[in-house]
Amino acid sequence: MATTPKRPNLDSVTTINPDGSRFFLHPSDVHGRFTLARRLTGILLIAIYILLPWIPINGHPAVFLDIENRRFHLLGLTLLVQDVWLLFFVISGLGFALFFITALLGRLWCGWACPYTVFLDHVFRRIERWIEGDATARKQLDAAPWGPAKLFKRALKHALFLLCAAAIAHIFLSYFISLQNLYGWMHQSPEKHLSVFLGVMALTGVLYFCFSWFREQFCVIMCPYGRLQSALTDDDTLNIGYDISRGEPRGKAADPSNGHCIDCRRCVQVCPTGIDIRNGLQMECIGCAACVDACDDIMAKLQRPKGLVRYDSLNGLAGKKRRIVRPRIILYSALMLLGASVATWAMTRVHSFEMSLVRMRGMPYMTDHGTVRNQFILRLMSKDQKPHVYTLTTEEAPHGLSVSGMEESVRLEPQKEIQKTLMFSINQADYHGPFEFHIEARPENGGDVIRKDIEFLGPDPAAISGMNH
Ligand code: SF4
Ligand code: SF4
Repeated sequence: MATTPKRPNLDSVTTINPDGSRFFLHPSDVHGRFTLARRLTGILLIAIYILLPWIPINGHPAVFLDIENRRFHLLGLTLLVQDVWLLFFVISGLGFALFFITALLGRLWCGWACPYTVFLDHVFRRIERWIEGDATARKQLDAAPWGPAKLFKRALKHALFLLCAAAIAHIFLSYFISLQNLYGWMHQSPEKHLSVFLGVMALTGVLYFCFSWFREQFCVIMCPYGRLQSALTDDDTLNIGYDISRGEPRGKAADPSNGHCIDCRRCVQVCPTGIDIRNGLQMECIGCAACVDACDDIMAKLQRPKGLVRYDSLNGLAGKKRRIVRPRIILYSALMLLGASVATWAMTRVHSFEMSLVRMRGMPYMTDHGTVRNQFILRLMSKDQKPHVYTLTTEEAPHGLSVSGMEESVRLEPQKEIQKTLMFSINQADYHGPFEFHIEARPENGGDVIRKDIEFLGPDPAAISGMNH
């Protein structure tokens, strides 16, 4: 494994050697306000990820995507498969929100909130630091021959990596099967839920591979959002940049003709993607602000103003005024607001229960003893935490239509569903062709009323009259 210091440039990727092999990075430790704030944010996000399946809201985990029962519980709101259409608007709104944030604040998401960065920086790199020491010690361990000490450290590190990868994968699974089921399944033979078991093993393997070896390569060569950012940002977007006018010419601090950059390369050593921010904004930059803290530390020691490397726009770094309001910000915020408004409207369309009515398959109608019959399956599905009694009525039904299987009131237990077979009949003499009527389900204690249209079908009335003659 090559460990020779490299000089990042704009013509090649630092983490790939000229022969195509991997150059494994060991970013140096860094301390400072952004590093602290990122760490606290990371811990908070990890805590949210772990706790969401534990926190009960309305009798269900705060986020529970119950695929088996086709019910999705999101912060107290229960959605059925029939409601999934509204997720389109929620996801669109979130997508435009990400566009808006990127145009305004650059890759804030990547450096501060992306789950990949959060787990890599605040879990896996911390474990590595704890076991193998700082960047210099890790490089020395890489270069050292295999012996008991190296074997022990590497075995311990990879065992903990595997354990963490398995924990993240199992928590992820609990979002789909609930914690109780997860606990129960873990005490059963894997054969009982083989596909789920293999899925979790595969996810554990992928996470272990990514966090132990692939690391920044995912951000540098695979992440689609990273590719998209250059299309979403402009010269007024807040990024992390180096103030050339202040820093150059770089050189020794003792020489007054030099700029403020002493070419100590601390900003390069701490960079998790191995770039030199002094070469300008680059696609590999994930906006982690490690170089800002590193350079601020050097500036403080030199008693020079902080901010040689800082959060600023390209215009700001060039000494121009940064514009906040600009056409793309207006467009993205309008699209974001549109998505949020439509999503809010869609949420108001979600009822506390659902009713579906499906015609008996392969049997649009039957004729029997002088009557025409249509058969339907009625399903009532509760999304509420309280039992309800519903009154079922037919509306605008023609004279002579009779119904069987439909009591006037039906009790629906919380989060349950009931199914009924309904038979509508009419004398052939009263049937003059297809007609429509409705079924209404009305909660007895008030609330949403759901109405379903029904089309009653039968044979051609002319054929009926021919048969009767
Ligand atoms: S940390 Fe600051 S002073 Fe040191 S090389 Fe980077 S920009 Fe120059
Ligand atoms: S250049 Fe700075 S902000 Fe960008 S990834 Fe490297 S250390 Fe993080």
